[in-house]
Amino acid sequence: MTKHIGIYPGTFDPITNGHLDIIERGQKLFDEMIVAVAESPRKGTLFSIEERVSMIKTATKKYKNVSVESFKGLLIDYVHKKNAGVILRGLRVISDFEYEFQMALTNRKLAHDIETVFMMTKEEYAYVSSRFIKEIARLGGNLKGFVPQNVSKKLKEKYKTQKSV
Ligand code: ADP
Repeated sequence: MTKHIGIYPGTFDPITNGHLDIIERGQKLFDEMIVAVAESPRKGTLFSIEERVSMIKTATKKYKNVSVESFKGLLIDYVHKKNAGVILRGLRVISDFEYEFQMALTNRKLAHDIETVFMMTKEEYAYVSSRFIKEIARLGGNLKGFVPQNVSKKLKEKYKTQKSV
């Protein structure tokens, strides 16, 4: 029997409880789920690709059908390489919609055999974004409830070292 593999791609700089909620609910839909971390060098990420992958691995250890990998290049090429048929994306507020819509249509034009599936955020995470979390961490705010503990620790370390350089 063929395995149903879903790919959840993103930058995850860093992973948040919003992403984790999508992973928790999304993994139930597939035999296997791969969290695919985009290198995104142009986005000027706070965490390196290795750091982002490692934080997600720690935060998703309990899911036996979830693995974490990094990828370079076109997402659809990676999805084909993994023999997966589905790209999973999360949707928060309306502002996510336009970007996600464009990306899903572009990917469909490039690869007809791949479907993009959207999962609606849990309302408590609707406003949680990696960008704001970095801002809270930079300003020394409380990250409880926004990110898992291992990520909160890493964020604190990161801003401590950044301040001292
Ligand atoms: P990208 O740079 O590809 O947008 P992100 O790491 O920002 O990568 O997000 C990856 C995916 O997770 C996107 O589909 C995004 O909409 C979704 N996502 C981000 N934060 C949340 C959240 N709080 N709830 C649900 N989905 C989210």
